[in-house]
Amino acid sequence: MSKPFIEIVDRGDGKKLFLYSENKINYKAFSGLPPVEGNQTHLRYHPTRSEWVAYSTSRQNRTFLPNAMECPLCPMLQEEKASDVPVDHYEVAIFTNRFSSLRLEEAHVPQLEIPTQPAMGTCDVISYSPNHTDQFSELSQQRIELILKAVAHRTKELFNDSHINYILPFENKGKEIGVTLEHPHGQIYSFGHVPASIKRQAEIQIQNPLSVTIAQIPKELILYENSSGICFVPRWARYPFEIWIVPHRRVSQVYDLNQEELQNLSTLLLEASKMLDKVFNQPMPYTLAWQLAPKGYQDSHHLHWCFQPIKRSKTKLKYLAGVEQITGFYLVDLPPERSARILRGEEQPDE
Ligand SMILES: [Zn+2]
Repeated sequence: MSKPFIEIVDRGDGKKLFLYSENKINYKAFSGLPPVEGNQTHLRYHPTRSEWVAYSTSRQNRTFLPNAMECPLCPMLQEEKASDVPVDHYEVAIFTNRFSSLRLEEAHVPQLEIPTQPAMGTCDVISYSPNHTDQFSELSQQRIELILKAVAHRTKELFNDSHINYILPFENKGKEIGVTLEHPHGQIYSFGHVPASIKRQAEIQIQNPLSVTIAQIPKELILYENSSGICFVPRWARYPFEIWIVPHRRVSQVYDLNQEELQNLSTLLLEASKMLDKVFNQPMPYTLAWQLAPKGYQDSHHLHWCFQPIKRSKTKLKYLAGVEQITGFYLVDLPPERSARILRGEEQPDE
């Protein structure tokens, strides 16, 4: 893929800020927000689930839905209004979250009667745009391509770190889903360990390659297709209006995509987000997962994206209730086949 311009700003606390642009930008830099002191974080073992749970002391003090004047992702125009992206203008930015739940630095780990370990890893924020009110679905095709290139660059760097074994870029969109900042952005969680459910999904793909399943997707579920990938509602959707995007060629990481694939997949991401916002003529709350291979599974994992919207009608949210939370067994009200017709504009959604 063609390389974007990358400017690396040292934040002074060992953290870096990466600025990505299509054309060279001369940035005016300010000092920015200070580091968060005393953030302690560690993992504790869950004895019946055989999973790790992270505990972080600083997250209670996170910024919560600030207005545009105090937004830490808006560019800085004057020294007084500090930002996490302390430059006067930018296109796409990635930086380490000051309230990171995972840390590469040494941290105090309490010795308890259950296993504990450092919360190894790091958490980045990716700002999609300098404009506070932009929506992903309103960004230009070029901007989405730049976001993919930025994620490709940063995830390659993180994947080469021997402490990191799994990386999850994702986006939480909408107040309904618990977003604490309205500014259009996603996050990149880089884990020292591979979370149990991710490991299970990676293991399953060795026996059941995703490409075999994708080849059987019927026309009624396809939303959009081009020479590099397919965008569809999965027959097995667990969320209303769930959408998957899968490249035709099996690659395990975003940085394995070539320029043509990157362009075509950007189109699919943009079209999917537009279709979601059109269902109720308002921004659709969702989580978007970038499913990358954990270390050790690069030869079998198939990169894909999953949009998991939580709105099933204009006024009703899909809450993960008791059964889903306790068992991981999903109950779905909206048949995927009908979701596909609504997303294509062939049928009206429920009010
Ligand atoms: Zn903002």
